[in-house]
Amino acid sequence: MALPESAPHSLGAANRQLIRAPTGGSAQVMTTRWPLPEPMALALQAAREAAQAGEVPVGAVVVKEGEVIAVAGNATRSPPDPTGHAEMRAIRMASEKLGDDRLAGCDLYVTLEPCVMCAGAISHARIARLYYGASDPKGGGVEHGARVFEQEQCLHRPDVYTGMGEDEAAELLRAFFRERR
Ligand code: ZN
Repeated sequence: MALPESAPHSLGAANRQLIRAPTGGSAQVMTTRWPLPEPMALALQAAREAAQAGEVPVGAVVVKEGEVIAVAGNATRSPPDPTGHAEMRAIRMASEKLGDDRLAGCDLYVTLEPCVMCAGAISHARIARLYYGASDPKGGGVEHGARVFEQEQCLHRPDVYTGMGEDEAAELLRAFFRERR
């Protein structure tokens, strides 16, 4: 059986090139970035709001054909819900809105590399493209740890693009945990 959307995805430096303008021939190294796409800006805003509510600042947005259909921040503490990661909540909202458990043709923007649980949900939801900001070597399950989408048992792999808004996303997390030390 041919796997749906089984084009190989690539991670890391190659993808970062997709969202950063090429550097010129100048001796001084300058990284020029493309403007932050609106969905990632909304995801960062949701992450900021999560922090204000005392939640770990991660935000996620689902887009279908250019239209934002769900925006969510992390909400695991109030009400208590260990599955209340931003991606899970955004996927749930989008599914309810579309009346479909398959979000074919939808893209997910999230400020942090998804964990194993969320990567599994992204696969089950048939998300077409995943854009995430900061890498998460400690808790990520896409380019780290279980590398969910690289497993044979993963029946749907989104195209993955990383690094979009990563500095801001990482700084939100650093600031949040700094305050709590
Ligand atoms: Zn997660």
